[in-house]
Amino acid sequence: MSAATDAIGVFREAMGPESADIARERTLVREFLRDAAASGLMVRQCDSWLSGYSPEFSRELGRHGWIGMTWPRRYGGREAPSAVRFAVIEELLAAGAPVAAHWFADRQIGPSLLRHGTPAQRDFFLPRMARGELYFCVGMSEPDAGSDLGAVRTRAARVAGGWTVSGSKTWTSHAQHAHHMLALVRTGDAGARPSGALTQMIIDMAQPGVTVRPIRMLDGREHFCEVFFDDVFVPDTRILGQAGGGWGQVLGELGFERSGPERFLSTFPLIAGLAGAAGGHPAAGELIARIVVLRAMSARVAGHLGADEAPGIPAAIVKDLGTRFENDSVDAAREWLGSCDADAGLAGLLEQAQTRAPGFTLRGGASEIMRDIVARAWGLA
Ligand SMILES: Cc1cc2nc3c(=O)[nH]c(=O)nc-3n(C[C@H](O)[C@H](O)[C@H](O)COP(=O)(O)OP(=O)(O)OC[C@H]3O[C@@H](n4cnc5c(N)ncnc54)[C@H](O)[C@@H]3O)c2cc1C
Repeated sequence: MSAATDAIGVFREAMGPESADIARERTLVREFLRDAAASGLMVRQCDSWLSGYSPEFSRELGRHGWIGMTWPRRYGGREAPSAVRFAVIEELLAAGAPVAAHWFADRQIGPSLLRHGTPAQRDFFLPRMARGELYFCVGMSEPDAGSDLGAVRTRAARVAGGWTVSGSKTWTSHAQHAHHMLALVRTGDAGARPSGALTQMIIDMAQPGVTVRPIRMLDGREHFCEVFFDDVFVPDTRILGQAGGGWGQVLGELGFERSGPERFLSTFPLIAGLAGAAGGHPAAGELIARIVVLRAMSARVAGHLGADEAPGIPAAIVKDLGTRFENDSVDAAREWLGSCDADAGLAGLLEQAQTRAPGFTLRGGASEIMRDIVARAWGLA
């Protein structure tokens, strides 16, 4: 058993017994991951849900039925309970498996299509996404509209049979690889309230007029991008939900984006390494204890998502506390490994975690914004 599975066992034990279905699925995933590591299909890494991009691995997961697990069978899903999906995701992240290629499709685009998509959109996109073959990027943020999404300026003008889109998006993860973007676009008066002026559109990234410019990161990788649209045609059949209904739809989507175990497991391979290293370390115990609490909160939100609710406030709490925890885990690891002879594997995981940490509390919505959401809910702001 690897250090990662040992450590995940510790916090799962603290959560009490699980159903036979969940236990069976965990065993299958672990066996798969062990084989994948042995064959070289995956290399354990920190932040694997955003940094580990492997279409080959995604297609393999799709073949095993681990993408779109909760979706209806007719769309390539398994109609699995959300708790089973939660356990599968947890195993993949704890092992540091490269799941980034299909991540957005599985986490939020698929559920959005099920809520708001037309039958033709579902028939086309969902089965391909569940097979791990078709990838989406998320086009919300713009140069002057990150925290304040209502300020989106990318604009679509009405033309026969559809719309033409002009403007730009930024920080778009994996736009250079994605087949489609789910973009939030202004289709109404710029002076109007966001609730009536924004629309979600599915944009084919191979369409003429789309330019993608990757942004170089601290460690030399190019994971997120600037994307420019120059009169890009989007047919009416690629509008998601209601034209003008984008604001409400995006708020629902952010519930999926903010509450999952990826908001506190990005550094888990490092934590597991600390817990498993000879002699252990008291800091590892504290980190595992915090994970137990975060996991309980996140699993509870997953239950609400499965019930088709949009738990914006609990999701914001998980996002804020979870990403703060991730940063604390990097600090604890740095302090500990700085005072001992860390093996090369552990030092490598720390280096990965350190270079990716600046984005933890920003991506998916900055911490200050999460706290603002919570404070407003209690009438404190
Ligand atoms: C690794 C990474 C991947 C990303 N991937 C994507 C992606 O795929 N698609 C996508 O659309 N976006 C993506 N983003 C963008 C991310 O959602 C934004 O960075 C985030 O929403 C913050 O927006 P901003 O960068 O414009 O910062 P700003 O909104 O300019 O905020 C800067 C700082 O000011 C603070 N601030 C802003 N407004 C307020 C306020 N009202 N009150 C208090 N404080 C405030 C913020 O908390 C933050 O600390 C990604 C970001 C990162 C780091």
